[in-house]
Amino acid sequence: MSDCIFCKLANGEIPTATLYEDEDFRVILDANPATKGHCLILPKKHYADVYEIPDELLEKAFILAKKVAARMTEAMGCDGLNIVQNNKEAAGQTVFHFHIHIIPRYKNDGGMVGWKPGKLTEEAKNEILSAFSAAGGALQ
Ligand code: 5GP
Ligand code: ZN
Repeated sequence: MSDCIFCKLANGEIPTATLYEDEDFRVILDANPATKGHCLILPKKHYADVYEIPDELLEKAFILAKKVAARMTEAMGCDGLNIVQNNKEAAGQTVFHFHIHIIPRYKNDGGMVGWKPGKLTEEAKNEILSAFSAAGGALQ
């Protein structure tokens, strides 16, 4: 993808603060961090989102996320950490090249990753259970 900013960052065409790099991924500091240490795991190959990325690479991405999370926790001394992965505009994705956010969390940091809890109604529960099982075949 010649016009994709994350392709350029991931492949070193545009220099960026890099925490880690291997043949499949580059881990960089987010330019607009939610908290101190907010970083991004970028695959070097272009896949728009979780729907497109192949299973094998996704597996590697999340295993790497776990390792980066542990290392960043040690480095920053954070009190917790969110791993966030947005897909499509409706879910807040702004750069359409798959990426995983690692967001260190600190006590009293203001808490920006969250949602307003609703209430699972009987009607919604039944609708979702039957729609989910009716959609497609077995998950595995
Ligand atoms: P999304 O909303 O798509 O899940 O997240 C995109 C993230 O990429 C945002 O947190 C944003 O700050 C970060 N970002 C966008 N452009 C750049 C850039 O050029 N360099 C870096 N390091 N981060 C970027
Ligand atoms: Zn890309």
